[in-house]
Amino acid sequence: MKMSNETLEQIKVQLRRVMAANGFYAEKLKDIDIEAIESQEDFEALPFSEKDNLRDAYPLGLAAVPEEEIVRIHSSSGTTGTPVIIPYTKQDVEDWATLFARCYEIAGLTKMDRIQITPGYGLWTAGIGFQLGAEKFGAMTVPMGPGNTDKQIKFMQDMKSTVVCATSSYALLLAEEIEKRKCGENIHLKKAIIGSERWGEKMRARIAKELGVELYDIYGLTEVYGPGIAINCEHNTGMHYYDDYLYFEIIDPKTGKTVPDGELGELVITTLKKEGAPLIRYRTHDLTRIVPGKCPCGREYPRIDVILGRTDDMVKVKGVNIFPGQIDDLLKEVDGVSSEYQVFIDHLNGKDQMTVFFETDAVQEDNENVKRYLEKTVMEMFKTRIGVTIIPKAVEIGDLPRSEKKSTRIFDYRY
Ligand code: ZN
Repeated sequence: MKMSNETLEQIKVQLRRVMAANGFYAEKLKDIDIEAIESQEDFEALPFSEKDNLRDAYPLGLAAVPEEEIVRIHSSSGTTGTPVIIPYTKQDVEDWATLFARCYEIAGLTKMDRIQITPGYGLWTAGIGFQLGAEKFGAMTVPMGPGNTDKQIKFMQDMKSTVVCATSSYALLLAEEIEKRKCGENIHLKKAIIGSERWGEKMRARIAKELGVELYDIYGLTEVYGPGIAINCEHNTGMHYYDDYLYFEIIDPKTGKTVPDGELGELVITTLKKEGAPLIRYRTHDLTRIVPGKCPCGREYPRIDVILGRTDDMVKVKGVNIFPGQIDDLLKEVDGVSSEYQVFIDHLNGKDQMTVFFETDAVQEDNENVKRYLEKTVMEMFKTRIGVTIIPKAVEIGDLPRSEKKSTRIFDYRY
């Protein structure tokens, strides 16, 4: 996407700010003459930053303002070792609320909506972001936080929540519980706002049907405010993002070169207004693409596709690159198979071995023929579509773990 002169100027202001702060980026960019950056091409020659680099700045090395201007920190859920700490100024918190309120507007909410928020509050940016945006927008919140499904369903009925915010796996769990309790008619939900991650069409259809809602994918990451930096509109043609606050690039994760609009690659974000911790060319490792053209809704905000996976989730088995999304798409086409699956990859007797567990009713009904048939179908589809031979294992519905966190479905035990 072509960078406007205004965006380039905003980026230069951010660059001057981080250089003056003499912290993490001043060190990283010390050999670069900021004033010599005059074009998109010059900008694209700047080095990327990675989550691992940000960890090196622990605890407050990312701060680009004096301490008296910092009003809070958030921390990203690092799976290993040192967390990343992001400092926010009062203006950053205000800007985040503005972006998030836009998301609620784009999703078609009104001040009469009641928003039940199930993601966690605290160091993590999720719950508090949904809250902040709703308060700015002017709708009532039911700030539940995660877990306690009994209470969630009780409040959902008694408070007549019209919108639920959740991860896809927790929304699915709620849908299944509501179905189990046969209390669907007391549920007033109209929309569900789901943290964008790769989730299959089948899971989407189940959540939409069982909760009776329209689904909205919301995107964000702690390093860049938090959730609320992009969302789809009613036309569902990708997620609108706010190019007055953020500059998005899509790169080839292997070469680091930007790819043409419409092509799949890794999302890289540069903040345009952030004060506490500006980010320059931050690699998200999220797999998406710029959706070219204009949305039928008429909004000027450009669009990215829903997140199609993580560039680091790509696994190479027997020489073939596989994304979890491909597995979702494949299983979605098999009748009698649920949207849940788990993949285990091992290296035995000098060969990669990939075992795919998927759920089906046939096991419960002890129908061996149907089970064998489904296993054979799934195996053949992997062979023809993806190009690998797998060991298929059908299990009972509910056997595979549902999680309140973003679920991991591929387990690689080769290394
Ligand atoms: Zn639109």
